[in-house]
Amino acid sequence: MSSPEYERRIASRFAGFDQDGNGYIDREDFSAAARALLAEFGTTARSDKGQALFIGAEAFWQGMAGIADRDGDQRITRDEFVGGAVKRLHDNPDRFAAIARPFLHAALAIADADGDGAVSVPEVGRVLRVLGVSPTVAEVAAAALDGDGDGRIAEDEIVSAFAQYFTVPE
Ligand code: CA
Ligand code: CA
Repeated sequence: MSSPEYERRIASRFAGFDQDGNGYIDREDFSAAARALLAEFGTTARSDKGQALFIGAEAFWQGMAGIADRDGDQRITRDEFVGGAVKRLHDNPDRFAAIARPFLHAALAIADADGDGAVSVPEVGRVLRVLGVSPTVAEVAAAALDGDGDGRIAEDEIVSAFAQYFTVPE
């Protein structure tokens, strides 16, 4: 549980959520992630896709706060993240997938330029990088998701991979 490798992974997942790097996770980090995705793909906040992304980001924040913000101060500290989010989500990855899905669904709709319901490997890599996954990991993870090698990735595969990544399997 407290191996250096595990600690390193926890630190990198926390940093991924703490988009503004101020040491705790709050609602602003989720809106920052939404804004970064909109900027990356040149979509406006007022568009339908932009609105859906902000609604998804708020639901994602509410879900995470419900699990991890134990003192109810609207901030998730690193201790709350490790003791609440990581442990409880690790025990129940489906719950994390349910919490993250509306946000990811909206993010993928923005990344899916031609609207055919699947995104390309490089598009998924861009989404992951914007969400704080390191570039090397993002590239490898995106390619690994494309099991049949046709260059397209479906939403379900992304949601479960994202859940696995952020729930930190030991
Ligand atoms: Ca923060
Ligand atoms: Ca708190």
